[in-house]
Amino acid sequence: MTNTYNLLLLPGDGIGPEAMQEVKKIITWLNDNSAITIETEEDFIGGSAYDAYGTPLSDHTITKAKAADAVILGAVGGPKWDGKTAYDLRPEAGLLKIRKELGLFANLRPAIVFDALVDASSLKPELVKGLDILIVRELTGGVYFGEPRGIETLPNGERKGYNTQVYTTSEIIRIGEAAFDMAKKRGSFVTSCEKANVMESGVLWREEMTKLHSEKYSDIRLEHMYADNCAMQLCRAPKQFDVIVTDNLFGDILSDEAAMLTGSLGMLPSASLGAEDESGKRHALYEPVHGSAPDIAGQNKANPLATILSFAMALRYSLNQGEIADSLENAVQDVLNNKIRTADIIEAGITPIGTSEMGDAVIKALQNRLQSEKAAE
Ligand code: NAD
Repeated sequence: MTNTYNLLLLPGDGIGPEAMQEVKKIITWLNDNSAITIETEEDFIGGSAYDAYGTPLSDHTITKAKAADAVILGAVGGPKWDGKTAYDLRPEAGLLKIRKELGLFANLRPAIVFDALVDASSLKPELVKGLDILIVRELTGGVYFGEPRGIETLPNGERKGYNTQVYTTSEIIRIGEAAFDMAKKRGSFVTSCEKANVMESGVLWREEMTKLHSEKYSDIRLEHMYADNCAMQLCRAPKQFDVIVTDNLFGDILSDEAAMLTGSLGMLPSASLGAEDESGKRHALYEPVHGSAPDIAGQNKANPLATILSFAMALRYSLNQGEIADSLENAVQDVLNNKIRTADIIEAGITPIGTSEMGDAVIKALQNRLQSEKAAE
């Protein structure tokens, strides 16, 4: 089995390049201190690509993205380009285009509460301490894309706005497979959410998930839940979940709700996955949930942990290096336990450190873990 991997890094705009710089430092450390080798290429996306190439995502960048084992993205956008480019050349168009070109239909949003940040959540500490759940959202179908859609004027002069919630069996099966495959690498439990009580598309969703489960994934626990109940359960007892799989609309809402259980934008990673090819490989893009934070860009103030944790997801889900992903996530935990904080996650009595110092602290924690492992051998 090859231990050499190729990543395409797209730092993007605003704080994207600063956060990505810390990922690059960690990659260098892993290449020197682990059994894997990660080769990287770097390119522009978003406003920086518009400045360099006249387009927010160039064809040659797409070709590189398709060839890579995974893409790690920083963030796009900022006032420099707001309203100053044609609509289809705005920075965000680069992001939408790369998702489309790579056929990324599954969005993975983990909500993890690190012990040291338990007070950042608006829920009681005992409800969120140790929380580690994953929302798998269908990204390319459902009511956001369904036809017919539009706004029309009726003969009586009233106006009517409408969208169509539509899912086919193949769309349901491929997102279901993605969720069950993720559950295999985690707690082996999937909760599938829809509104089968009031929507036919929900009835089909439930039937197909049940069928897929019995045919291919009977070793994983499957439960069905109405999406509105899931929204309540996420606030009432979020630790009951492992993987939640749901459609585009419900996933949009439930993933934001789950994100806020953790309380901190600078800590939230995400992944978007495409279909598996014959060799079992998927196109995949990993990125922090936050944007380009122009208000703090270039000031060494950004929290790079969401981007670092996105890279950890790439190690786990695209490079199949679960142990190294564990070490990296544990190193982040160590840093937080040692009360090392950037300004966005600061606590009273602590002096905040900068983006670059946070990256250094994670590397030091990785180093310490490696030394204790060696001493224990
Ligand atoms: P934002 O996420 O960039 O910032 C919101 C607030 O959170 C700001 O105060 C910012 O300073 C803070 N923040 C965000 N990430 C942080 C981090 N890592 N460390 C410390 N503080 C952090 O959202 P916004 O202000 O609405 O958008 C700014 C730009 O980013 C816009 O151009 C928007 O279109 C773009 N955007 C891009 C993405 C993406 O690339 N995926 C996502 C959202 C927004």
